[in-house]
Amino acid sequence: MDRYEMQKRLDDVIWRIEQARIRRSEHHIVKLVAVSKYTTEENIRLLYDLGQRAFAENRVQSLADRMEKLEDLPIEWHFIGRLQKNKINHLIRLNPFMMQSLDSLDLAEALQKRLAEHDMTMECLMQINSAREESKAGVDPQKAQDLYMQIKDSCPNIDLRGVMTIGAHTDDMTVVKKSFETTYDIFDRLKKEGARICSMGMSNDFELAIECGSNMVRIGSLLFRE
Ligand SMILES: *Cc1c(COP(=O)(O)O)cnc(C)c1O
Repeated sequence: MDRYEMQKRLDDVIWRIEQARIRRSEHHIVKLVAVSKYTTEENIRLLYDLGQRAFAENRVQSLADRMEKLEDLPIEWHFIGRLQKNKINHLIRLNPFMMQSLDSLDLAEALQKRLAEHDMTMECLMQINSAREESKAGVDPQKAQDLYMQIKDSCPNIDLRGVMTIGAHTDDMTVVKKSFETTYDIFDRLKKEGARICSMGMSNDFELAIECGSNMVRIGSLLFRE
């Protein structure tokens, strides 16, 4: 992609985020995380050069490759994919800025054990399966609040910062909206427990997500798809 095209896409995304956040509230602030799984290192460098600092990958190996090849840039890396237990040590070695896809107590306990062994902490979001879709990772919305508290109490090396969800997989925007509202509701109740980040919204639904209270959007296709 050339610089002009990348600039145009970034400007467009930022403008749309701006419009949506003002519809929510003048005081509402939204962070953009660029999901780089579809693109090349050159394009990541280009977007970085245009001012973008937070990027995300959904596979541990891809994250490792990108972090290594782009280690000269102070990028804030997010991990947003399913974490298999046998990849926990690898992820800990990479020490990303944030891990957004903590999706069970089992995984949290395994991660806690390894973090303690390495005397490290990791900022995490708990992923919620807000539309209760079989194919999707995340905890059941009805159990989310209890689970969040349980992880907070039993995993001192996990620094829980909030929640993440992927909107319902359908073109029916009322259903997508419902999944965002469900997640925001849980987030709202967890604020008193220190939850600060509500990560929801992707290329196809980020404006709706922001209107429902999201303060972090994860956007890939709109920025990078050729
Ligand atoms: C790929 C991915 C995204 C970005 O999706 P787009 O529709 O390309 O914007 C966001 N979140 C997660 C968890 C992803 O895997």
